[in-house]
Amino acid sequence: MSQLLTSNTAVYTGTFDPIHKGHLDLIERGSRIFDHVVIGVGINPDKSPFFAMEERVELIRAVIEPFPNVSVRGFSGLAVAFVREIGARVMLRGLRSASDMESEFTMSLMNLSLDPEIETVFLMAKEPYSHLSSTLLRQIATFGGRLEQFLPASVADALEHRVRDRQRS
Ligand code: ADP
Repeated sequence: MSQLLTSNTAVYTGTFDPIHKGHLDLIERGSRIFDHVVIGVGINPDKSPFFAMEERVELIRAVIEPFPNVSVRGFSGLAVAFVREIGARVMLRGLRSASDMESEFTMSLMNLSLDPEIETVFLMAKEPYSHLSSTLLRQIATFGGRLEQFLPASVADALEHRVRDRQRS
């Protein structure tokens, strides 16, 4: 991690339950802007996740292989504290809609109050992915909908298996 301290690193935090093609598009575009992108997989106390944090990290690790300057780590606690721990000063976030804008605006101002040295940089979601959310994809999977166009194949498989396991128990 030490080489990250001096370089132009952005940290892309989220729940990623699971990672989808909208996230991946943002990661790919971020990897062209920044020297390094570190994906931080966090715990959202308001959500009970489909996938444990280690599973979400492993699903991401498999699909970021094509990007040599992208890595993934789990974290607990405040995102700004994680960004500091990495030695970065930039948080990368995606914006899908006006409603994202409102919550992300509040969150970025709160993060600035918590740590004024850390800036949030936003990229707009690309049109084909702007309606994608992990929440919606978990719902589609639960009702047996097709997932291939929204999720990398390995993630679609894992989600279908998880839904079946949950429906059996
Ligand atoms: P969700 O569960 O809603 O997909 P996450 O916490 O996993 O949300 O999202 C992590 C980050 O990725 C957030 O900045 C979010 O705005 C962004 N993001 C989520 N979906 C997309 C998308 N379809 N395109 C671009 N960015 C996205």
